[in-house]
Amino acid sequence: MNNQDAVLQLKDVHVSYKSGDEQLNVLRGADFSLVQGEIVALVAPSGTGKSTLLHVSGLLEKPAQGEIFINDKNTAKLSEKERTLLRLRSIGFVYQFHHLLPEFSALENVMMPQMIDKKSKSEAKQKATEWLKKFDLGHRINHQPGKLSGGEKQRVAIARALANSPHILLADEPTGNLDTKTADHVFDLLLNVVRQERLAALIVTHNNELASKMDRVMTLQEGKIVPFNL
Ligand code: ADP
Ligand code: MG
Repeated sequence: MNNQDAVLQLKDVHVSYKSGDEQLNVLRGADFSLVQGEIVALVAPSGTGKSTLLHVSGLLEKPAQGEIFINDKNTAKLSEKERTLLRLRSIGFVYQFHHLLPEFSALENVMMPQMIDKKSKSEAKQKATEWLKKFDLGHRINHQPGKLSGGEKQRVAIARALANSPHILLADEPTGNLDTKTADHVFDLLLNVVRQERLAALIVTHNNELASKMDRVMTLQEGKIVPFNL
């Protein structure tokens, strides 16, 4: 049965990697669903498959077995082009390291996903400016990443992930590279925007205090997703 309200649903997802002669079974029947407006923390030790889970959820990697539904659409049945378009429009991805393009300004970086989606330049510019202002970066829009602080760069990266108005946000330790005070600030901004926009979010963090601010907390155990009590 499908969960009709789920914006993201994983069913019996398996992912393995080959390392030499050995096969590493990272995800072994992961089941999970996320509904609109729900913010879920994923807390698990290093090497347990958190990033792998985010990659398959974000259609960046295909599972060996199992299915991934985005808005009730079975993504296994999509062509490569359809997957790319769905990813571009429905899913925002934030990494631990900002991955901004250094030679472009903050504004141009945030405009990029919209330009790839063939939106008009003026529309992309207007929307990117609005997003940057939501992240208190109105005074930094013409700065290149090299001229921004760590917290500012990560806020630009989050604005870029949201620029195409996705309804799912996947974030892989989005503040893991920042000092505690900056991390708290960036995280609060992120959660506020996610709640305001009623996005569904799956956020990997090592920080239990940050995890406790979310609606529910999950972990990975033997390749499966299970509830976690902080
Ligand atoms: P986490 O994000 O929880 O630290 P990962 O999902 O990155 O864990 O990795 C889970 C396991 O799979 C680790 O043992 C890692 O070394 C391995 N792994 C991840 N990606 C690959 C890959 N592309 N090829 C081979 N092994 C991989
Ligand atoms: Mg990881």
